[in-house]
Amino acid sequence: MRIETKAIHVGEEPDFRAGSYGDVTSPIHLSSTFATLDIDRPTGGYDYSRSGNPTRNALEQKLAAIENADHGLAFSSGLAAESTVCLSLVKPGENIVAFNDLYGGTRRLFDQILAGDFSIGIRYVDARDPENIKKVIDSKTKLVYLESPTNPLLKMADIKSISDIAHERDIPVAVDNTFASPYFQNPLDLDADIVIHSTTKYINGHSDSIGGAVMVNRDDLYSRFKFEQNAIGAILSPFDSFLVMRGIRTLGVRMRQHAENAMKIAEFLETRNEVKKVIYPGLTSHPQHDLAGKQMKGFGGMLSFELEAKAEKIEKFLKTLKVFSLAESLGGVESLIEIPARMTHKGVPSSERKSLGISDSLIRMSAGIENVQDLIEDLENAFLTL
Ligand SMILES: *Cc1c(COP(=O)(O)O)cnc(C)c1O
Repeated sequence: MRIETKAIHVGEEPDFRAGSYGDVTSPIHLSSTFATLDIDRPTGGYDYSRSGNPTRNALEQKLAAIENADHGLAFSSGLAAESTVCLSLVKPGENIVAFNDLYGGTRRLFDQILAGDFSIGIRYVDARDPENIKKVIDSKTKLVYLESPTNPLLKMADIKSISDIAHERDIPVAVDNTFASPYFQNPLDLDADIVIHSTTKYINGHSDSIGGAVMVNRDDLYSRFKFEQNAIGAILSPFDSFLVMRGIRTLGVRMRQHAENAMKIAEFLETRNEVKKVIYPGLTSHPQHDLAGKQMKGFGGMLSFELEAKAEKIEKFLKTLKVFSLAESLGGVESLIEIPARMTHKGVPSSERKSLGISDSLIRMSAGIENVQDLIEDLENAFLTL
């Protein structure tokens, strides 16, 4: 089955057993506990909803299917998923080798909790060159942690090459695949070991649920994460599981439209004098356009651009937009725009922002699936204020 079909059917096959109704969508099982007639023999395989719940289980099957994975786990947030993976694999005194361009919340988790409170070493490298990973790996490295494309500069890591390097030393590779979505990139097929998602973004796609996911093929990693997730308690609620499943059914059509709109907007922005630079993996001007073409099936819905204007003008530009909302987050059907230096990345010290390439005039856009002409006209109107 292809991804569009799996996104609709897996985990939600109609149940024709006696006492069932043949629902074509999963019911929401809100029960926190499940009664049994026999001790040690749970009625339907479930005993307590933190340890397992039928609605969450249906979602977890769907999550695994869309990443071509054997196993999926649904978490209460993307960060809950990340915390569980890292705490399962890395102990005090050991280290994680990570891309230096990561989601801000991941940086906070790594720097302040893992490094700060748990004495776990974090070695940041520019993972655009796989050799940089090779240089810092040592016998205490227990995890290689990547994001590709990154936020907000859409830098890419060569997942296959880096996985080959890490596997020579038996180190698992985790990829935060939130930006690409499973529709456009499947890290396990590129030999990574662990896929992490903030389902809050494209997977749910409707900006109405916070959640996370982990997908793996390896049985040992699955058992470890499942145990740790239950022990920590980082699970997704039945109602949110239902919402995320509902979102996944349209992943294919949404992603195609996100990418088509992003490409048209990127091309439009490249024609404007007010724009210094457009960053979108689908443009041939992107320095890693070839790698994107190799490891992704499409270029996604995120783009960034730099405006040639003073701070007040940029603020005016953003406030003039009517169809775009000025907001953090991404991946929903509605178009969002933000200024990383003052919003999503204000926690990153300004010297580090500069060295990464996040300037004060950089704008990040999550292209929604509205009619693209309305989006372009909205931008044209805002350009009049510059
Ligand atoms: C949003 C996001 C996260 C964190 O997910 P939450 O669901 O907000 O906890 C992690 N990684 C990336 C790339 C994100 O965009």
